[in-house]
Amino acid sequence: MEQTMRKVSLLDLTAQYEDIKPEIKQAVDNVLESGNYIMGPFVKSFEQAMAEYCGTKYAIGVANGTDALLLTLDALGVGAGDEVITTPFTFFASAEVISQLGATPVFVDIDPDTYNMDPAKLEAAITPKTKAIMPVHIFGQPVDMDEILEIANKHNVFVVEDACQAIGSRYKGKRIGSLGTAGCFSFFPTKNLGGYGDGGIVVTNDEELARKIQILRVHGSNPKYYHSVIGYNSRLDALQAAMLQVKLKYIDQWNQQRRDKAAIYNEALKDLSITLPYVKENREAVFHLYIIQTKYRDELMAHLKEHGIASGVYYPVPLHKQEVYSDLEYEDGSLAESEKASLGTMALPLYPELTMDDQEYVISVVREFFEAKGERV
Ligand SMILES: *Cc1c(COP(=O)(O)O)cnc(C)c1O
Repeated sequence: MEQTMRKVSLLDLTAQYEDIKPEIKQAVDNVLESGNYIMGPFVKSFEQAMAEYCGTKYAIGVANGTDALLLTLDALGVGAGDEVITTPFTFFASAEVISQLGATPVFVDIDPDTYNMDPAKLEAAITPKTKAIMPVHIFGQPVDMDEILEIANKHNVFVVEDACQAIGSRYKGKRIGSLGTAGCFSFFPTKNLGGYGDGGIVVTNDEELARKIQILRVHGSNPKYYHSVIGYNSRLDALQAAMLQVKLKYIDQWNQQRRDKAAIYNEALKDLSITLPYVKENREAVFHLYIIQTKYRDELMAHLKEHGIASGVYYPVPLHKQEVYSDLEYEDGSLAESEKASLGTMALPLYPELTMDDQEYVISVVREFFEAKGERV
């Protein structure tokens, strides 16, 4: 009889649930017993915990990370005729929200070492229409915030951090999300702090901005049934808030486990012809994904698959090359580093509960692939 193939997934959400099951069940029960399912004390308590965690004055729970970005840009007055600068090497939502408001996304190429917006290319993209800059801390790697904030301040534009993949990461000691005008987080289940469904939050030190987002998320009403602006139905569920508050206690531990496992990969793969993740000095990354780059990307992924190991491409098409943005007329090669990264990068399995055994198996299969090619550095 054939042996069943060993399997390693990119992520295992049930393993994490097993570790915290009694606390999560209790949190769910507390909400169900309370009768408070929308807004109310569980949401407020989690918002306070998140503001404290990020070191900001305010946190405003919303329905998901996309809405965190959307409501923030809306509250900042982004609309038709405006431009918002972001990176093309990110999840689609980063640009989508700009377009939803009738504004135009302007893409700035990435630094190939970090895959983040290259601040050296930012200033050339600023025009009189620029209303905000939206850097994305991609894969949990902090953006060069000082450089970006300096340019933003010089040109008097807002900085909205897309921190959806980077909860807990630090830039020069400060939590990501607390450095710009506002920071936006997603609690999509696969994120480092994932709920059991959708969820999102905005953190900020700006009282007026916080107030506006609080109004926007409840149909633009203040008080209830009195509407001053067109808003949204975009709230963080009490159930999600209560479960996320349990998980927030563990986020630093989980992120450290991710860093430790990333360090194990770095050490074990360093003599192969692979570009490994690079974290700049004075930054603490949280490895939402462990991204490597190789000219054999597709072949390596097929080899891993044959051995039962999952891998993934984040993201196969940079946003300026998406069909929906063809009218923006970015030529092939216009944002060359992003295009190159889309062709050569892939994620290996990395999550806090990944066992030593499974990681060693992944390492041995990757090594076997490169050794068969005779490709050692
Ligand atoms: C996940 C993600 C979002 C959107 O978050 P949702 O909660 O799925 O709406 C936005 N930007 C980035 C970079 C993301 O990774």
